[in-house]
Amino acid sequence: MKPTHPDHAPPADAAARRAIKPVICYPVETLPRPDLAALRAARAGWTKIDEVIVPAREAKFFEVPAGCFFRIVSIDGPQVGDLNLWSLKDLNERFYSGKTRALHGTHLSTGDQLWSSIPYLRPMATITEDTLDWYGIDEHGGSVHDVIGTRCDPYTHHLLSGGETYHHCCHSNLTRALAEETGLMKHACEFHVHDVLNVFMCTGFTRDTGQYFMKASPVRPGDYLEFFAEIDLGGALSACPGGDCSSEHSSDAAACYPLKIEIYRPQDRPEGWVSPAQNGYDRTHGCDLD
Ligand SMILES: [Zn+2]
Repeated sequence: MKPTHPDHAPPADAAARRAIKPVICYPVETLPRPDLAALRAARAGWTKIDEVIVPAREAKFFEVPAGCFFRIVSIDGPQVGDLNLWSLKDLNERFYSGKTRALHGTHLSTGDQLWSSIPYLRPMATITEDTLDWYGIDEHGGSVHDVIGTRCDPYTHHLLSGGETYHHCCHSNLTRALAEETGLMKHACEFHVHDVLNVFMCTGFTRDTGQYFMKASPVRPGDYLEFFAEIDLGGALSACPGGDCSSEHSSDAAACYPLKIEIYRPQDRPEGWVSPAQNGYDRTHGCDLD
């Protein structure tokens, strides 16, 4: 528990204040929802158009046209993947894990959408299948595919390890993958790398101290997480140096495995589906100044 000041004794009505019922900040009932059945029906007769292998402790860039699907597949052994997404047309529009968390919760599964950054704020991808959806929320409060972590990075590792240097944290892997794809300098690419969807990772917050925890991922070879691309996407996936994230990351200690990305094109676009426009807010912010 965090320390409390001796003057801050609980007031007489502390129990009553704590007992107030929470309300959901963003009820999904008012959120435009995808037609999941139509999206899933469009998979019948689809064609695999590309496949990318992400080596252990590395990241790879991939592209998915709007209206196509992609799967992140576990192969060889339990492995966590850190996913970044951008609009293929504009790197400034990128996955916004914080707002996605606020809209859908701490962990994502079938039917949830991955939202893009402000001012674009629109669905980038919809999750259409999750073979780990049986996991639910465990006795520790843990679940799979979180948007509460950030990504392992060499700066935090430098702080926590007393000055060590490690170049295969997901942040660095994603930076190299984007640099190789775009030809931009690594230092420029680093600013486009952002908080991830932690694919297959099992995480939560401890009940007593509220700290971020991880535990061994329940993923096994053959499991996959499937997405429908709502807009033209560029993605980068890092096979985290933590492997199944059962003990540590930011080192070469953990057993690590590759991940596979499969990209599929449906025969026809899903019935009733149109690629979402950028957010409709007028961006004046109640102000006349340019
Ligand atoms: Zn990582």
